[in-house]
Amino acid sequence: LRPDENRLTNAEKEFENSIRPKEILDFSGQDQIIENLKIFIKAAKLRGEALDHVLFHGPPGLGKTTLSRIVANELGVNIKETSGPVIEKPGELAGLLTNLGQHDVLFIDEIHRLSTVVEEYLYSAMEDFRIDIMIDNGPNARSIQINLQPFTLIGATTRSGLLTAPLLSRFGIKSRLEYYSADMLQKIIWRAAEILGTKITSDAAMEIARRSRGTPRIANGLLRRVRDFAQVIGNGVIDLAIAQHSLRALNVDEYGLDEMDNRILNTIIENFKGGPVGITTIATAVGEEAGTLEEVYEPFLIQEGFIKRTPRGREVTEKAYLHLGKTPGKGNGS
Ligand code: ADP
Repeated sequence: LRPDENRLTNAEKEFENSIRPKEILDFSGQDQIIENLKIFIKAAKLRGEALDHVLFHGPPGLGKTTLSRIVANELGVNIKETSGPVIEKPGELAGLLTNLGQHDVLFIDEIHRLSTVVEEYLYSAMEDFRIDIMIDNGPNARSIQINLQPFTLIGATTRSGLLTAPLLSRFGIKSRLEYYSADMLQKIIWRAAEILGTKITSDAAMEIARRSRGTPRIANGLLRRVRDFAQVIGNGVIDLAIAQHSLRALNVDEYGLDEMDNRILNTIIENFKGGPVGITTIATAVGEEAGTLEEVYEPFLIQEGFIKRTPRGREVTEKAYLHLGKTPGKGNGS
């Protein structure tokens, strides 16, 4: 199970939408972000203005899309959703922007993947609610100015490190979503099970929560699979035994680590004697971009105490050795 939305099937996307919280009250966790957003939304409404542009960043599956829709809902405006790679030409961006009503939200997922030309058009749109579009080319080329309704851009990205300074500076509100605690995920699973009409015991929900890599998308995905086991080999109720059996059958890691997480730990231990080793060296060895390792994988491994950052690079901890069934110290040169 991967938290990356691009790898979801249509059925999985439909499932996600069916249990996605629509109201701010149903959204669990991220308390600081929610408290701040409530204030900013209230203030914008009091002044009768569009909410400042918002950037949600953080690993996949933590609720960036969900929060964006909730913000639009709280503002009482429409939301148009698109994503960075989908907007190929400035004209397409202009089309989206000119169709927005007053104070509406334009949501751009994967905003780090906007092309440079499109991004440059976004600057004046964000700053002055105005775009200059070139029409015709050659000697007849001329630019026309289009005024837009005041709107709110909400950008989401897993790779804020790839955003340019001019784009970043145009977001008045920047929020980084954090991984969820097991307690919070247990609540999220509980709520999803209720919507699905599935009975689940609290210890079973906790078992799934602990193995969900701090990520609601993974928790919900596991719940969906475990429910199948409960229905077929049990009486439909998800209890601890069913949960444990299913998670074992699904090869879900005890800590919820995914294949790449384990590959990273394995590589540092086997190829680099446990570290310290530089992030770019690890990236090459596992075949992933260094930035993705830094922004998507490493934060969880560090938070859970599998990896340490040292001045000379990354080092695995004893917990990583034990987790992979290896002897600490073995192969680390001592
Ligand atoms: P992202 O945009 O960050 O990749 P999404 O907003 O699409 O993540 O969330 C993925 C799934 O996780 C959705 O099905 C949503 O219902 C669920 N989810 C995310 N955050 C929460 C939350 N705080 N409470 C309940 N469910 C959540």
